[in-house]
Amino acid sequence: MISDDIRSQYTVTVGIECHVQLKTKTKLFSGADNDAREAVPNTLVNHIDFGLPGALPVLNEKAVELASQAAFALGTEPQRFSKFDRKHYFYPDLPLGYQITQFYDPIIKDGSVTFTLDGESKTVRIHEAHMEADAGKSTHPAGADYSLVDLNRAGTPLLEIVSEPDMHSAAEAKGYARELYLRMRYAEVSDANLYYGNMRFDVNVSVSKTAELGKRTETKNLNSFRSVERAVEYEVERQIGLLEQGETVVQETRGWDDAGQKTFSQRSKEDSYEYRYMPDPDIPPIVLSDEYVANIAANMPELPDAYREKFAAMGLDAKTVEDVVAEPATAKLVGEVYDDAGSAHAKRAAFWLLKPQSDGSDDADEVEAKEVKTSSQVKNLIALSQMVADNMLSSTAAKEVLDTMLKTGEDPTKIAGEKNLMQVSDEGAIAEIVKQVLAENPKAAGDVQGGEMKAIGFLVGQVMKQSQGKANPRSQRSLSKSN
Ligand code: MN
Repeated sequence: MISDDIRSQYTVTVGIECHVQLKTKTKLFSGADNDAREAVPNTLVNHIDFGLPGALPVLNEKAVELASQAAFALGTEPQRFSKFDRKHYFYPDLPLGYQITQFYDPIIKDGSVTFTLDGESKTVRIHEAHMEADAGKSTHPAGADYSLVDLNRAGTPLLEIVSEPDMHSAAEAKGYARELYLRMRYAEVSDANLYYGNMRFDVNVSVSKTAELGKRTETKNLNSFRSVERAVEYEVERQIGLLEQGETVVQETRGWDDAGQKTFSQRSKEDSYEYRYMPDPDIPPIVLSDEYVANIAANMPELPDAYREKFAAMGLDAKTVEDVVAEPATAKLVGEVYDDAGSAHAKRAAFWLLKPQSDGSDDADEVEAKEVKTSSQVKNLIALSQMVADNMLSSTAAKEVLDTMLKTGEDPTKIAGEKNLMQVSDEGAIAEIVKQVLAENPKAAGDVQGGEMKAIGFLVGQVMKQSQGKANPRSQRSLSKSN
């Protein structure tokens, strides 16, 4: 461990590159299916993905649309002119011998991402973001004298978002990664399923005692916010440790060992000239009209900040606001309940829908489980909340109704009826029972009337018994007093 004293002498600088998988049906340049999650290797491939001679790529329009939406989510607009280039390197999972990417004219330039960290606002500038085709996947079976190549992922459309080196701690790196994740999900650009690698983070870290930046390392393919934080933290400690011992930091690419919670050296870092970038002559440039861009802007889904403002106006505290915003489906529901029925109902809905949020939301099962059927749920949530406000349901009974309602999308009145959970708040019906109980228990009734309140618990118990537990205790107390 490096002491705080030594650590405080160094400035930490972090930049992040993030690959976001665009949610298209087909690949960036071929008609092959884009969902490689559970597919048998090499079944989602065609002549283009195999890089067969003479096969010509055709740009997927949907990918351009999603990248344009991403531009707005990054606080800017898509470039009116962008084009594709070839980045050459040789690896078995890259049949063309080059990756198709955007080097000279990316679709997004500039932009910024602002988020709140420990109550303070932090802005990270975006240098650029470019579209590119993913490579395939190589596996090296233990003990075998061969490697396996699966091209299902080859050609998957990615948006690589490159930040400026504006972060100065592991916490800021994690905060940025989380905000990027939220924005990509809200903008409906990507499924952003971290478990399936829909978003992968590469962190560039350097430390320096002077105004000049130190030598940086790039730790690649982190797929959770926590591993982003830990990898930065680990590199800061390692690099300061080296410098303090009079050694140097080697500029290199490193990997992340999740089991060991440490980074490890992979290969020395290439300089860009080694990739021999050149414009791809097979793909025409992308030219977007003002009208096209205006149309994207007009149809942008609401972003996290819009919801944050709405929930703060509703009177939720900062922590609860973030908890609701953490899951777009929940935020949408609560937001609609607020728009339709006001803050009392919306607060109740937020409280019901919030489960303890897992840090990083990187558990795929949890993400699936939180997906609720949304069509009729806004109406249902308002109805359920109204039932509680009207004392027709106890809060325990409301939770029970909620569970079924979220699963089935059924009307809460129907569910409460079927489960026999309705409280009898019909004052006439309760008054009848109260009258009967008072008549049957003249001594207790007399005590209460004489100001001896101990007996009231007994009387309420009797009423509950007669009503089979459904008489709203509050209504009957006031009724037995007035009787
Ligand atoms: Mn890339």
